[in-house]
Amino acid sequence: MKDTYRHKGLRKKLIDSLRRNGIRDENILAAMEAIPRHFFLDKAFEEWAYQDKAFPIGYEQTISQPYTVAYQTNLLEVKKRDKIMEIGTGSGYQAALLAALGARVYTIERQEALHNSAKKLLAKLGFGHIRHFFRDGYKGLPEFAPFDKILVTAGASSIPEELKRQLKIGGILVVPVGNENVQRMYKITRISEDEYLEEKLDNFRFVPFLKGVKRVD
Ligand code: SAH
Repeated sequence: MKDTYRHKGLRKKLIDSLRRNGIRDENILAAMEAIPRHFFLDKAFEEWAYQDKAFPIGYEQTISQPYTVAYQTNLLEVKKRDKIMEIGTGSGYQAALLAALGARVYTIERQEALHNSAKKLLAKLGFGHIRHFFRDGYKGLPEFAPFDKILVTAGASSIPEELKRQLKIGGILVVPVGNENVQRMYKITRISEDEYLEEKLDNFRFVPFLKGVKRVD
């Protein structure tokens, strides 16, 4: 895997476009500029890696659009050492970004093949400290709860109540909620043991948050 001057140049342009589109957090932008997104796509699709678009990664899944990754990460208000659970490892790109921002990352994937390939890739890229779980993310990780932040990178049909319960008081859950065509981004902050503040933000389109796991045949 090579990260050439050309890749770096394309990445810089992508970051400039995210900045123009309203992403202001320079820590997030710098981390995105440092992570070679083309490593997370098949070699044949390298050219696509630096367009602000989602892209297929196999198994009917996608690596999220860079703007969406930056937007969700921004809502999480990531601080160094934050304990963050990500649902939907996919390519591993979002997990790498959270780790690059200094978070302690626990990531869950329901597709065994993606879980395996992301785990391998992230270890190779120096993110061996990210913890990977092959599970149904609807259940979260009760044995590791509570979390400072929880990020769902698939579109849910309703707010996942079990995940809310795995937040620390003061913790934030970011989850897109809606039907299969469009989801509204929700930022949910746990204010006390049983009170949550719900903010409904912009519309996006994610692959669906599905129940159960899918094993390699
Ligand atoms: N964060 C990813 C984008 C992933 S797309 C990245 O940076 O590339 C959404 C992912 O969520 C898919 O890989 C899909 O298989 C996974 N997913 C969907 N439902 C899930 C569930 N219940 N538990 C865990 N992962 C799930």
